Amino acid sequence: MKLDPTLPWDTVFDRVLQSWKDSAYGQSRRPFLSEDVICEACFWDRYVSLGMACDEYTDHEWPHWMRHTLRDLLIELRCVLFDHLVDRSYAGETVGDYYRGSGLMPKSRQGEAVRRAVEIVSDHGIVVDLWLKQRMATLGRWPERVRRAALHEKSRS
Ligand SMILES: [Zn+2]
Repeated sequence: MKLDPTLPWDTVFDRVLQSWKDSAYGQSRRPFLSEDVICEACFWDRYVSLGMACDEYTDHEWPHWMRHTLRDLLIELRCVLFDHLVDRSYAGETVGDYYRGSGLMPKSRQGEAVRRAVEIVSDHGIVVDLWLKQRMATLGRWPERVRRAALHEKSRS
């Protein structure tokens, strides 16, 4: 899957959901993921937990493969958005040029440009987090579609 960070975020998120569904048949049959045990990472993932809690179409918890696949896709999504942000031009360089290493520098020695870059990255993280929570709380029929896609190879419903 290739996510394009220049597209509207909601479009990129829909691409993630489509990929979740398209990979369902294969993922649900992978040995590690088809077991009942939920790995730690999935168990503590608050986006996945939120999506599962808001799923009105089942009384059961999501199987591990559903959680793990979506979790991986959401990590990829966040990385793509972050990389796009730090590549943005800022004060003659990029946001990343000022941001990287800023944590190793005492606040008192950070210049204005570094402080602003840290703020930009931090604000971005907050906005992405709120947006992801909102999207995960309103998945609608997507989890149901993913469950159905896992039953039939090459399902395109
Ligand atoms: Zn997992």
